Amino acid sequence: MLVVMQEGAEEAQTQNVINRLVSMGFIVHRSSGMLHTVLGGVGPVGDVDPIEFEVMPGVKECHRIVSPYKLASRHFKPAGTRIQIGDVEIGGDQVVVMAGPCSVESRDQIGQVAEAVAASGAKVLRGGAFKPRSSPYSFQGMGEDGLKLLREAADRNKLLLVSEVMDQTQIPLLAAYVDILQVGARNMQNYNLLRELGALRKPVLLKRGISATIEELLLSAEYILSGGNYDVILCERGIRTFENSTRNTMDISAIPVVKALSHLPIVADPSHATGRRDKVLPMARAAVAAGADGLLVEVHHDPDHALSDGAQSLYPSQFAELMNQLRIIAPAVGRSV
Ligand code: PEP
Ligand code: MN
Repeated sequence: MLVVMQEGAEEAQTQNVINRLVSMGFIVHRSSGMLHTVLGGVGPVGDVDPIEFEVMPGVKECHRIVSPYKLASRHFKPAGTRIQIGDVEIGGDQVVVMAGPCSVESRDQIGQVAEAVAASGAKVLRGGAFKPRSSPYSFQGMGEDGLKLLREAADRNKLLLVSEVMDQTQIPLLAAYVDILQVGARNMQNYNLLRELGALRKPVLLKRGISATIEELLLSAEYILSGGNYDVILCERGIRTFENSTRNTMDISAIPVVKALSHLPIVADPSHATGRRDKVLPMARAAVAAGADGLLVEVHHDPDHALSDGAQSLYPSQFAELMNQLRIIAPAVGRSV
């Protein structure tokens, strides 16, 4: 913790800050310059919020020197985390593409889409059986029947399966069917869910919240890691900004920022980030060029009749084209597809 005192701060104010730091367990190093006194507190960072010091009389500013998350930090595992699921490695040399419809709708639908994405080179089938919809009147998903259809289609096409878990009571059900449990953007700060997922021994794909900072995303990952589940995959899926040309604003820079701050793999979801299929390919290319470990892409064989997110779902032929483009881009940044 670094506390910079205001110019002309009184000695009593400085002592007050020192006493506070010491009472919290910090060892304080004091350095007095011409204008400012700087206090360096070495010790337990835990949950100390710099604002607690910034509101004290005589304090100019206060900064944390180390991050508030530990297990999610790159320092914890400098070489990076690789998650092995069957013969697929996430966070390794290969860019892993996860693709499928927004929601599973029928055996015929998921069968057709799974076959198409597998033929183009996807490694993981995606599809929601429990859907977090903005309106309670929208299609809410097929539930367990949908999970059965997803598993069947994934197995038939030798794909892994990722699907969303909406609350902690659903964890055992999801865990029985899927290889990766997805936490949706709306649930990134559902701390009860995150804690329960920490007790699970299955990979979790954690999406960035609609208005979450990268630090908040990494703190949410910390909840899962601190429970002993180290297989967490982060996902940039766009954040809400003032820009309304696209459904969300895809924060491509989050990819290199997360890579520097954390050892966890990060994938990108250009479908929810843009909300329109004509923008999915360019954003997918950009994400892979920026260092994403994988992509999560919505594909539907008949998007005009999709029960959710049809406008952002690629036609199978567009998905095939996306994979072809990645076969050029990935090697340019030292990866394969
Ligand atoms: C999804 O992947 O289907 C989904 C609902 O995404 P998000 O949580 O990012 O909105
Ligand atoms: Mn969707």
